[in-house]
Amino acid sequence: MPLSANPASIESAQTDIRPPTTLTLAITERCNLTCCHCWVAAGQQPNSPDVPEWSLLQLIEQFSALGGEHIRFTGGEPLLHPGWLRAMQFAGTIGLSAITLQTNAMLFTEQQVKQLRRSGLPGFSIQISLDGATAASHDRVRGSGAFAATMQAIDRLVQGGLADRITINFTEMQHNLEEFPDLLQLAEKLGLAAVVAGTLVKGGRAAECSGIAPPDSDQYLRLIRRYDSDHDFRTRYDAFGNMAALQWRQDDSPRSSCCTFAEHPYLTTDDRLYPCLLCHSDEYAVHGVYEKGLEAALQEGARLWAPLLEISRRRSAALDHCRDCPGAAVCAGGCMGRAWSSCGSPWAADDRCEQRRAIYSAFPPKVRQN
Ligand code: SF4
Ligand code: SF4
Repeated sequence: MPLSANPASIESAQTDIRPPTTLTLAITERCNLTCCHCWVAAGQQPNSPDVPEWSLLQLIEQFSALGGEHIRFTGGEPLLHPGWLRAMQFAGTIGLSAITLQTNAMLFTEQQVKQLRRSGLPGFSIQISLDGATAASHDRVRGSGAFAATMQAIDRLVQGGLADRITINFTEMQHNLEEFPDLLQLAEKLGLAAVVAGTLVKGGRAAECSGIAPPDSDQYLRLIRRYDSDHDFRTRYDAFGNMAALQWRQDDSPRSSCCTFAEHPYLTTDDRLYPCLLCHSDEYAVHGVYEKGLEAALQEGARLWAPLLEISRRRSAALDHCRDCPGAAVCAGGCMGRAWSSCGSPWAADDRCEQRRAIYSAFPPKVRQN
């Protein structure tokens, strides 16, 4: 159903919240794995059914009509949804410029690889979770045999001509951080597009899992020093790596607010729309999106999220612990969503504050004057 969508109606709904550019769309809670660090706690007995395919197509069309650019299909494991490929192909036909599939890749069949290749989707990428360069590290969180199965799937995709569409998503933890340079080497050997690291989010099952922890400050500082001293690591990282800790060291732009709040909303399988991937609070969820339509949901969200936008702008000045931090001018109080997901309050410190502050202390930012 084509919409008479009006992005301005969202922007002008009482706030200066801008319309979304990227939508993360969970299409199933089911997963073939039960990773101990899974912050959405996906598994084989989900609380909600898969999103029906017709609802997905309608939602994708509404997002495109509102000027959306990038859609990210996630789960659970999206390959378990019977309509995942048709939904991606549909997104490619209606003008979205980037389409991403977030997957553990283990369930890719030869046939699907061929279909993906033939689809020729514009701006299409596959983000594959790989939590280490060895089975020992990856399987510690994802279960025995997961590393071998994911590597086999990557090989299938590479043989199918999709190497340059693959980004490795790596979750930084104490037990695997030192393997990040090896992962870059592995990706280079296979001709993959990028390796992107993200920090552990202590929500869902990760909040209960005792055997894992985020890296400590010394580990990050050692990795930065290795970047400085190891030519091959540095060359590969600069070509196709990304890790927040290595970027913090180079921060030089002054910031007064913490993020692109609400431009990257997240829609769950049980029909809750959050302003971002990490800001989960029922108080700030818009319900019934598939029924009321995305435009109406975003208008409701713009009113609901206005106080959060204000908090995100005031955090850096209001947080006591930031006042004497050498990185205060570039960090702006860290990420409000992370503060929320780890501590349950938008006024708490970002859970990576200690590590971030250690890096700013060792390498004080030279703040650019605009
Ligand atoms: S982290 Fe990903 S692969 Fe693991 S259980 Fe969660 S959704 Fe499944
Ligand atoms: S590193 Fe921590 S203390 Fe420093 S500005 Fe960021 S949030 Fe505040």
